[in-house]
Amino acid sequence: MSFSLYIHIPYCQSKCPYCDFNSHAATSWPEDDYTQAVIAEFRRRVEQAPWAGESIRTIFIGGGTPSLFAPASIARIIDEAVRLSGIDADAEITLEANPGTVDAAKLAGMRTAGVNRLSFGAQSFNSDILKFLGRIHGPDDTREAVRVAHRAGFERLNLDLIFAVPGQTLAGVRSDIESAVALQPDHISAYNLTFEEGTGFFADLKRGRIRQYGSDEQAMMYATVREVLPALGYPMYEISNYAPRGHEARHNLTYWRGESYLGLGAGAHSFARMGAGGRRWWNDRNPAAYINRATAEGIAEAGCEVVDGRTAAGEFVFLNLRLCDGFALVDFERRFGESFDTVFGARSAALFEGGLLIRERDRIRLSDRGLELADSIFAEFV
Ligand code: SF4
Repeated sequence: MSFSLYIHIPYCQSKCPYCDFNSHAATSWPEDDYTQAVIAEFRRRVEQAPWAGESIRTIFIGGGTPSLFAPASIARIIDEAVRLSGIDADAEITLEANPGTVDAAKLAGMRTAGVNRLSFGAQSFNSDILKFLGRIHGPDDTREAVRVAHRAGFERLNLDLIFAVPGQTLAGVRSDIESAVALQPDHISAYNLTFEEGTGFFADLKRGRIRQYGSDEQAMMYATVREVLPALGYPMYEISNYAPRGHEARHNLTYWRGESYLGLGAGAHSFARMGAGGRRWWNDRNPAAYINRATAEGIAEAGCEVVDGRTAAGEFVFLNLRLCDGFALVDFERRFGESFDTVFGARSAALFEGGLLIRERDRIRLSDRGLELADSIFAEFV
């Protein structure tokens, strides 16, 4: 069994007002110390089960803004991971990048470092929307970043888009999609803007400074995304993700399939499958505290929980239901030792009767209507 590795780089040039990730605005950052801390944590973790002796299937370097780091730092982390664990021949190695932080030399350096997939936070191609979102880049920065990435040899490239931004129109959503598709990425993610507690936008919303679109308007925008992207050659394969077959984000499939992943870095989460359940833990969120602990002890855990088999079964269902093809009943039974009907038959009956869940060819998946009500359906399995 190979595993997926997530590495969190928590620094950003500025904090976007909608962002609830563990990201910290900084004009300088302790890049060497942080890199060393991540390597120290990796060395310690891969001595232990279930990671010891297993090779790496995918690496995702996310943040924050990992593209602020020099390619040499990213290379140090990847080289050490490969040296200690080995890596599958076709491993996917993704770097998240802010279009405002890259140039030809940096992207060529990342390619040489071993990165073979980029994920650009484009968000929109409308300057006013980008300003409203607090982004440091403009539409032309994204266009240039993608051109440069293609020239540097990145064939696998994702663009993130955000819709239902206050002030955005349906035509604007469509136009953003068309602008993204014109750049010929092999993968597009489109997320509905959310207003999470603790963000600047959440405070603005509470004070009445901005207005959130109502659920009907948001549903119309989501329907537009689901209609336009497939029509332009990007079939939907997950609630927020679109790509031709074979171009799915393999690292993220690890999460949606409920498989094990090792997270390194400030605030990173990990999940190790054990029997039908598993163990989940998360690191200290503060970058300075993380550096100190990981460097000194190789461990920077801030908390953990044991996931029992029943809880893991619920998580398996709602994570897999994010995928358009859902999950195979036989996979559920093989993993949890009981049939889906035995564990969730009573709880899911109304969802099937209401046409929100579909059972077809021994698989279970969400219907189109179910996609729109996904969050409330997932809550049924928690
Ligand atoms: S660049 Fe990304 S991680 Fe950083 S603050 Fe903005 S949304 Fe958050």
